[in-house]
Amino acid sequence: MSDITVPVLIVGGGGCGLTTSILLSEHGIDHHLVERHTSTSHLPKAHYLNQRTMEVLRQVGVADSIYEVGTPPKNMGKTRWVTSLGGDGELDGRTLYTLESFGGGRLESAYAVDSPCPSTNYPQIRLEPLLREHAEKRAPDSIHFGRELVSFEQDE
Ligand SMILES: Cc1cc2nc3c(=O)[nH]c(=O)nc-3n(C[C@H](O)[C@H](O)[C@H](O)COP(=O)(O)OP(=O)(O)OC[C@H]3O[C@@H](n4cnc5c(N)ncnc54)[C@H](O)[C@@H]3O)c2cc1C
Repeated sequence: MSDITVPVLIVGGGGCGLTTSILLSEHGIDHHLVERHTSTSHLPKAHYLNQRTMEVLRQVGVADSIYEVGTPPKNMGKTRWVTSLGGDGELDGRTLYTLESFGGGRLESAYAVDSPCPSTNYPQIRLEPLLREHAEKRAPDSIHFGRELVSFEQDE
């Protein structure tokens, strides 16, 4: 066992942990991240990245690499409730309601007033590897997957 002394210990290499690492690196603050799993999450979870999130990620030079692969607003302007996505029965494929949403389509100009950063859509299952890449590039020796925090003591 070795002793490690760093100003910040980050427990967890999900979206928050990896983003915290990137933010700390950009401020030149040393840190140590541990994630108990050997890789980022295999589970599909969140997908929508709102304008404020993209502003924060732009500040640290990450936004462009997400815009390159994320869904552009023009392709995500509507949320639609339908009776089914498939099938050719009488009740299949009927639209119950359509909502303008996510800052796309006709909402694009209204959202643009609030921020220079459009929202985008990129599933967490793909975003986390991208954030990990950015975090490791900035702090190659600070990101440790396959390591679990099992206990800690708070001192003065
Ligand atoms: C099915 C599902 C659908 C979702 N859909 C949406 C959505 O549409 N929109 C939305 O905004 N949000 C959604 N969420 C929520 C979103 O995924 C979470 O808010 C987000 O993952 C939280 O990020 P996090 O980094 O705080 O935590 P997590 O992603 O949970 O990461 C925490 C990490 O800490 C690690 N860890 C914990 N304890 C230790 C330890 N002792 N030592 C080392 N590592 C440890 C864990 O292994 C984990 O990887 C969804 C979640 C689920 C489960």
